[in-house]
Amino acid sequence: MTTEHVNCLIIGSGPAGYTAAIYASRAGLKPVLYQGAQPGGQLTITTEVDNFPGYPQGVEGPQLMVDLESQARRFGSDIRYGVVTAVDFSGYPHKATVDDQHEIEANVVIISTGASAKWLGLPSEMRLNGRGVSACAVCDGFFFRGQDVAIVGAGDTAAEEASYLANLCRKVYMIVRRDEMRASKFMQSRVKSLPNVEILYNTETQEVIGEEDVTGARVKNMATGEERILDVTGFFVAIGHKPNTDIFKPYIALDEHGYIITEKGSTRTNVPGVFSCGDAQDNIYRQAITAAGTGCMAALDAERYLGMKEMEVHAEV
Ligand code: NDP
Repeated sequence: MTTEHVNCLIIGSGPAGYTAAIYASRAGLKPVLYQGAQPGGQLTITTEVDNFPGYPQGVEGPQLMVDLESQARRFGSDIRYGVVTAVDFSGYPHKATVDDQHEIEANVVIISTGASAKWLGLPSEMRLNGRGVSACAVCDGFFFRGQDVAIVGAGDTAAEEASYLANLCRKVYMIVRRDEMRASKFMQSRVKSLPNVEILYNTETQEVIGEEDVTGARVKNMATGEERILDVTGFFVAIGHKPNTDIFKPYIALDEHGYIITEKGSTRTNVPGVFSCGDAQDNIYRQAITAAGTGCMAALDAERYLGMKEMEVHAEV
């Protein structure tokens, strides 16, 4: 195994990672960023992004990520293909293994590995992903205004997104697999009070229908065995997210859902010199712009940390 020493290692290439790279490279931290299994992150599987400030006409998700990457490269960020497969934060400098074969030692690490939406796992859902199937109502709901849509899930996210969609769409079917919802009482009563939301309990999706784009969904009431077709053009999945944090578990404090715990008002983790930004540590907002904001914070926190470290070294000499 080869070993390389770098100053600032950034793991992950969504809006958080690239923004961290832009700030870190401009601050002279010489960041090395590993893009991970899905270069560009979740936005590369969305279509148009209309809510990222600075693009008055909107921008395609993949284009936004190309723009962020080239902005980071412009200031000298070293952006590389490769997946960080293991870390060792037990000593200093911090260690990371890339693709099981290359070891990196780093003075600071910024974790921006994001989260992945959970999917039902239906072949039709995968085929129509980005063509009517979406895991983000706030990102894509606007494209379905005045139309009929369905949303799967019964947690707080699904309830919140169903309420959001109800504001835009003519009709929202909420597909709940049990005979009750998991969402908080408040969110449940809010969604139940909306006249254009119809909640289908005990219901599972058999197939998302459509050739080029979504034209419907075939659902089954598991209590009665009755099947029906919902005439919808949008099919939203809100059955939870999984933060991509498994490899950090032995060292980094995570909450009960696996999100990295950062100190309030900062991106500091429990390990000095390791910072986290974006969806890997954000269970609440999960937006490209909030991820970018925390990416900036992580680079500034890393810069301060390195400055302090340098002062300590000088004080010892
Ligand atoms: P949750 O894990 O809370 O809920 C996931 C929902 O999806 C559950 O109702 C589950 O059903 C359902 N589900 C899972 N798999 C399937 C499947 N294969 N088919 C159909 N349905 C499925 O995830 P959330 O994203 O809703 O919330 C995550 C956390 O974030 C929670 O702690 C939540 O409280 C919090 N949150 C808080 C908000 C707020 O306070 N404003 C807003 C959003 C989230 P079942 O119930 O049957 O298991």
